[in-house]
Amino acid sequence: MNLKAKTFELRKDVLTLIHRARTGHIGGDFSVIDILTVLYYKQMNISPEKMDHPDRDRFVLSKGHSVEALYAILSDLGFFPKSELDNYSQYGSKYIGHPNNKINGIEMNSGSLGHGLPVSIGMALAGKLDQKDYRVYTVMGDGELAEGSVWEGAMAAGHYRLDNLCAVVDRNRLQISGGTETVMAHDPLELRFASFGWNVLSIPGNDVDALNDAFDLARRAKGKPTVIIANTTKGCGVSFMENQAGWHHRVPTDEEYQKGMEELEQRRLAAL
Ligand SMILES: [Mg+2]
Repeated sequence: MNLKAKTFELRKDVLTLIHRARTGHIGGDFSVIDILTVLYYKQMNISPEKMDHPDRDRFVLSKGHSVEALYAILSDLGFFPKSELDNYSQYGSKYIGHPNNKINGIEMNSGSLGHGLPVSIGMALAGKLDQKDYRVYTVMGDGELAEGSVWEGAMAAGHYRLDNLCAVVDRNRLQISGGTETVMAHDPLELRFASFGWNVLSIPGNDVDALNDAFDLARRAKGKPTVIIANTTKGCGVSFMENQAGWHHRVPTDEEYQKGMEELEQRRLAAL
């Protein structure tokens, strides 16, 4: 499968979903979607029919507000019918603006930031105790790193040498209220994680090949958890959304929707 072209097809699904429902976090969806695509289409051992299998890999979207990207992927892979997203964010729908585990394919409710890594560490520790080979993946936002629980988790994962755990930071350098280094600085982020005992990989985070290589390297690293600092662009794929904090939670107008869809289709075709 051409994963790069797939990411633009999925972005079109996300844009359509948010435009129709008049709500969603499009900037973060477009920054994280390459990471999720490589995990779901290439790296993780999971399938729609086996979400209760004890040996499945575990995935936690800690930056839960990017759930529209996850919905696009789960529906494309058959975890639930695409038509169920017609009532996304409508009253009574289980397809709400953050992940919930009533939906096939979603392990953990998330949205309150800073919880995904600690719970993932519990899953990884359980895997070690049960002598299972499954891997645990969690994706955090970079604004999320201001939560203290992230660093308590980072300390524990290093202490327990959880090499079955791979965390990804969607490092787009923006959060809801502006630039991360202005709101709460994280640099030098690589050194911070390394000092907690992690194997650290820093890569271009909207590059599916670089992501795939990094997940392969993480799988081979022994005795340490791995964090992939995925250096991404918020709003990646639509020129007028890129690197704009205002697109964290903005709904496109009809005109912006058309222009965005055209750009994404051009990029999809260029990737083929
Ligand atoms: Mg961010």
